[in-house]
Amino acid sequence: MAADCGCSLLGRPASVAGHDPSAAQERFLRLRDRTCRHPGCGQPAGRIDADHVVPYDCGGRTACENLCCLCRTHHRLKTFARGWRFALLPDGTLQVTTPSGVTRTTRPPGLRDLTAQPALPGPRRAEVPTVEPPPF
Ligand SMILES: [Zn+2]
Repeated sequence: MAADCGCSLLGRPASVAGHDPSAAQERFLRLRDRTCRHPGCGQPAGRIDADHVVPYDCGGRTACENLCCLCRTHHRLKTFARGWRFALLPDGTLQVTTPSGVTRTTRPPGLRDLTAQPALPGPRRAEVPTVEPPPF
């Protein structure tokens, strides 16, 4: 799971009150998901919809924890076809269950585990020559 440091560079953009995601949320989703998140679909994220996994009308928040990229075809499938279940886990993993009960999982390629990376080396300290005091 990615570090949630709260800074505007690495953290998730804040949730918004309305239905439509903010520009910052859209950028985050496109970078996190890269393509449509439906298993087996490779539509590039430039042509996708930001879908509320828990529908907005059912109380789903407009937050990155509840949004994922779906192409128009799979967005409509999720919205209108019966029997499909979608679940977005806190780490961005999407679980899609078909009406027959088969579950497939996709993970966002753009969301790396930043806590697993080794720490960067600290700045080098300049060698300060030792100065001998004068002999007088
Ligand atoms: Zn798709």
